[in-house]
Amino acid sequence: MKSVRAFVFDLDGCVWNGDTLNPGAAAVLRALHEHGRRLGFITNNSRATGSDIRVRLERLGVTVADTVLTPLEIIGETIADRYGRSRVLVIGAAELADVVALAGHEIVAVKDYRRAAVVVVGNDFELSYERLTAAARAAAAGAPLVTPNVDPRLPIEGGDFFPGCGAIIAAVATAAGVEPIVVGKPEPPLFEIALRRLGVGAPEAAMVGDSIPSDVVGARRVGMRTVLYAPDGVPPGADAAELVIGSFADLARLAGVPATAG
Ligand SMILES: [Mg+2]
Repeated sequence: MKSVRAFVFDLDGCVWNGDTLNPGAAAVLRALHEHGRRLGFITNNSRATGSDIRVRLERLGVTVADTVLTPLEIIGETIADRYGRSRVLVIGAAELADVVALAGHEIVAVKDYRRAAVVVVGNDFELSYERLTAAARAAAAGAPLVTPNVDPRLPIEGGDFFPGCGAIIAAVATAAGVEPIVVGKPEPPLFEIALRRLGVGAPEAAMVGDSIPSDVVGARRVGMRTVLYAPDGVPPGADAAELVIGSFADLARLAGVPATAG
C-alpha cells in the first residue's frame, strides 16, 4: 500500500455514518493528502450530487478531497447514451429528478406513468404505494428500469440503518418481473471516472470501503487494489479484499503515513 498513489473512499459506513465521521478519518485523510496521495470519494448516494457531498465533507472537517462522485453525475447521461432523450418517470428524491431533467429528458408525472419510456428509481423517503405501482407498471410495460444502486441499506449513526435504494428496487423489479440497470457501484463507471479525474491507473489506486459486493467486487472488476473497512470484525467473504482494516489508523500504518490528530 506504500506505493499506492491514490485512495478512493466509500462514504456511508466507511468515512462516515450519518453525520458523524468514523474515528480517525479526518486525521488520516489529511495525513494521506500531506504525503502526496490523491484522494477520491465515490458514493452510491441517490439523493446528492458530488458537490453536495463535498460541502458535507468540508462541514465535517474533510477539506482534502480531489474528486467526489455520485451516480447523480452520470445517470442522466447514461440514459441519453442508451435510449436517447426520453420521457422518464422518476421515483426518488427531487435531486434525482433534477439531474435527469438537466440531461435533457422529459420528466413524466406519477399519474402519467403510461407515457414513460424509462423508469428511474432512487431512494425515496416519500415512497407510497401509488409511486411503487406507477414504477412497477411502467417497467412491466417495457420501460427500462434504471437505478443509482442496489444497496440494501443506508447505514446511519449508532449502527442503525434506513432501507436503501436496493430495497425499493427489489419491490419494483419483483412486481414488474424485470432486472434493473445499475449505474453506481459495483458497475464500472463511477470507479473509472474517479480514476480518470485523479490521473492514476487502476493498479496504482486502492478502493477503501465497507461493502464487499459494492466496493470490493466493483473495484476488483476495474483492476484497482482493494481494502475492506471492517470496524466490527472481519465479515464472511472478506477474503475477496486484498486487505482488511479495522480502523483508519490501520490504513495510515499500511500506507506508511503518520496519523496524528490536529
Ligand atoms: Mg458503504
